[in-house]
Amino acid sequence: MEKRLANKIAVVTGGASGIGRASALRLAAEGATVAIVDLKESDALPVQQEIQQAGGECLVVEADVSNPESMEKAISSISEKFGAIHIVLSNAGINGAFSPIEELSADEWDQTIQTNLRGTFLTVKNCLPHMKKHGGSIIITSSINGNRTFSNFGMAAYSTSKAGQMAFGKMAALELAQYKIRVNIICPGAIETNIEENTFRNEEKLEEIQIPVEYPEGNQPLKHKSAEPEQVAHLVYFLASEESNHITGSEMYIDGAESLL
Ligand code: NAD
Repeated sequence: MEKRLANKIAVVTGGASGIGRASALRLAAEGATVAIVDLKESDALPVQQEIQQAGGECLVVEADVSNPESMEKAISSISEKFGAIHIVLSNAGINGAFSPIEELSADEWDQTIQTNLRGTFLTVKNCLPHMKKHGGSIIITSSINGNRTFSNFGMAAYSTSKAGQMAFGKMAALELAQYKIRVNIICPGAIETNIEENTFRNEEKLEEIQIPVEYPEGNQPLKHKSAEPEQVAHLVYFLASEESNHITGSEMYIDGAESLL
């Protein structure tokens, strides 16, 4: 039986690690050819190897999603190699500096906004010319923080960037529907990745930013421990596939209902 994403080309930013890595592996397992865009080629090579060992095809392209020239070059090289782009996971992101507003520098603010929000804009902008002819699916990794904040301080820049990704994703869904390009926004709660490990599993950091220590279990009705990146990858696959072909402009929460509290 033909795989469900056979003959599809997928671009995954931040595919070297965490949610991006799990999604790249899942999309490849469903038959897509995957192009991973990440800051360091060497970080993404193990993912490429894993995909190739399973019989899939994967290209690694080094780029900084917040840099216009770097992204233009990266996406051009992907489309030159494969001829088209059908699926985009705009996922590269950082938590950035977590400081109260008074202590946050303008450079720290810019770094978070540029990586997360400008990065998504540049990813979509550059992929678009290679998707318009045949349509496709764009998935943006935002966060529950785009719509609510923890009862803590220090996440103003991160939350703003994630809210911006939601607004951008909805505008893009409206604008790109004419090309049969769907755009959806996924909003994870706590997921076990490097980002999570470096911030929310770091006791000093938790104290500094005043997140309750029982995080994340005490913060969500399902009382799960953090979810695995593979659980997010199921949602990414669904939104990438034709099975979701009437879904666009949606925010999808994958958070054990944490965002409802
Ligand atoms: P991660 O650190 O494991 O992966 C992030 C990847 O993005 C890394 O490979 C990193 O090198 C890459 N990256 C960072 N800056 C980049 C840049 N400028 N250009 C290209 N690549 C860059 O973290 P993750 O948890 O998998 O994060 C993925 C996305 O999920 C992020 O947008 C994050 O905000 C979002 N998110 C994560 C959680 C969580 O709990 N882990 C929750 C909600 C949202």
